[in-house]
Amino acid sequence: MRYRPLGRTGLDVSMLGYGASPLGGVYGRIDERDGIRAVRTALDLGVNIIDVSPYYGATVAETVLGRALRGVDRSGYVLATKVGRYGEAAFDFSAARVTASVEESLARLGTDHLDLIQCHDIEFGDLNQVIAETLPALEKLREAGKVRFLGVTGYPLAALTRVAAATPVDTVLSYCRYTLLDRALADSAPGFAALGTAVMNASPLAMGLLSRRGAPDWHPAPPPVRRAAAAAAELCARRGVDIAQVALSFAAAPAAFATTFVGTASAGNMARNVRWALTETDPDLLDEIETLLAPVLGYAWTSGRDENNPATGRA
Ligand code: NAD
Repeated sequence: MRYRPLGRTGLDVSMLGYGASPLGGVYGRIDERDGIRAVRTALDLGVNIIDVSPYYGATVAETVLGRALRGVDRSGYVLATKVGRYGEAAFDFSAARVTASVEESLARLGTDHLDLIQCHDIEFGDLNQVIAETLPALEKLREAGKVRFLGVTGYPLAALTRVAAATPVDTVLSYCRYTLLDRALADSAPGFAALGTAVMNASPLAMGLLSRRGAPDWHPAPPPVRRAAAAAAELCARRGVDIAQVALSFAAAPAAFATTFVGTASAGNMARNVRWALTETDPDLLDEIETLLAPVLGYAWTSGRDENNPATGRA
């Protein structure tokens, strides 16, 4: 495994992080024992940063993750969870709710502190509230020793940029914004670096779009993007390569990202992901894939409130 600094936190994190949303059944039912083995495999292979949220599986992912981490040396991993999102359309960024939320997460995760607490999908909230109320409430929890660092997550990069420029945040996380299908996060990364904010990349497989199985029904990508991704998967299969390997190796490569979170509840997939993150793709195959995906490259959907998305939707 290779490690990179997490911005100005003083922590070094693995270039591949474990994303725990599948533990909540977000991508289909899972066998809890498999999910626990996936977490343990990640840790055994040197992954030392884990991302979760109370939203994933309506608290189930945190509960399963807490079981997986029982008995593991707490100083051996960086634990990140979130506040503010509790359902498909359930958001509450108030000081009272996020303060209670951290306590609930601590109990489910079986720990007395979180290394990173992130405001989850801020584009669905009022950014002024995130800046003036949510983050100051989390700052109080930092002073109390319950959390060590603060961050924000979301899809439209404009929303993350606005908050990071207005108030110091240790990390930003965006998803599906640096993959074979979109490069926007790399363009924003220097701006965050200049603010001292670490950039975390999530969903290197574009939430399943760049896998043999394809995207789940709830995926926001429109049919042309799904078709192009399926064609790329077929091309890779003809070359005897799994599209997930190419996608992961591509997304995890830039040193501008402290880490790239991939999600799986399968130990076998996690072991492959670690190997693939450290492997380069044949440049000729990559060229062919990029040519195939060029017509849909950079397609971005809108997420959250209109005011937090530029008019084009290409945030
Ligand atoms: P992802 O791109 O990592 O894709 C996950 C899907 O790919 C799952 O269906 C999984 O089974 C499959 N997969 C994983 N490894 C595979 C392999 N080797 N072969 C074939 N299929 C494989 O998407 P994700 O899980 O949504 O994102 C990763 C993590 O990033 C999440 O778990 C979460 O922690 C974080 N995240 C955060 C936000 C946010 O804060 N708003 C949003 C998205 C993701």
